[in-house]
Amino acid sequence: MAYNIDKQRLQSVLNEAYTKFCKDDSGRNADYIPYLASVPSTLFGIAATLPDGTTVTVGDCDYPFGIESVSKVPTALLAMHQHSPEEILDKIGADATGLPFNSIMAILLEKDHPSTPLVNAGAISACSMVLPKGNSDGKWNAIHNFIEELCGSKVEVIEELYHSESATNFNNRSIAWLLRNYARIYDDPDMSLDLYTRQCSLGVTARQLAVMAATIACGGTNPTTHRKVFDAKLSPRITAMMATVGFYECTGDWLFSTGLPAKSGVGGGIMAVVPGKIGIAAFAPPLDEYGNSVKAQKALGYISQELNLNIFNGYV
Ligand code: GLN
Repeated sequence: MAYNIDKQRLQSVLNEAYTKFCKDDSGRNADYIPYLASVPSTLFGIAATLPDGTTVTVGDCDYPFGIESVSKVPTALLAMHQHSPEEILDKIGADATGLPFNSIMAILLEKDHPSTPLVNAGAISACSMVLPKGNSDGKWNAIHNFIEELCGSKVEVIEELYHSESATNFNNRSIAWLLRNYARIYDDPDMSLDLYTRQCSLGVTARQLAVMAATIACGGTNPTTHRKVFDAKLSPRITAMMATVGFYECTGDWLFSTGLPAKSGVGGGIMAVVPGKIGIAAFAPPLDEYGNSVKAQKALGYISQELNLNIFNGYV
């Protein structure tokens, strides 16, 4: 039943998706982080990496943009890698909140049980669990190196974004300290928040995100470097988390429509994982009202349909 995706067909479908949606000017750049408002709105790129390490691209796939919430995926993986999936389930959880990514209400409602590392609260909590405990530089190196291993190439913090976000992240500061109030953060709250802010400010390209997605799709072995980054048993865990909450309160609509486990970020990136088959990334800054890239969603939906990537479709 396994089927390999033909490279030429893949390139044609990516080209079609690009042509179909590149003129779509709906949505708006995020502006609650001032840097993001200044990114050119017309940028649009789609990249896909296959298990043999080939990457196919169209459009702006070498422009480094803010990874933002897509970074919640590698940090959740790192926390599971350093501890265990069971410990993450116990200390953070794997349940959708059904509320916006930065919801304070979700913490209040769920104070007696955890939620998920793929929303702000759980992601700050995941940063707090990264080892070595109490050591900001050591933790940052662990996160940064892990992301580079997943991408198979160097990634750097966009300093302007980091300063822009650090100067305006009042809501996230409240989240960090509210977590402390409910004993759901496992290291210093301010340090954990700073790590979270720094990881969100990493600049990645669509090409790099496609490789990250493919590394997850290939059970933790990066198909471009052939390096084993994490144990294969973590792939279904993180993919399940992405499927559950990758688009926050509209994740069900997304999964129903596309059948693609994916994670979005307010920088305009979306990363999708199809287990064993392909990793795909799309990038375009204008967002819908929930904070998900309009064009990237449309492109990925089209690609899923054309290449029959819906993970719930066993009748291929
Ligand atoms: N750094 C952003 C924030 O905390 C990430 C949000 C996102 O990409 N959804 O608000």
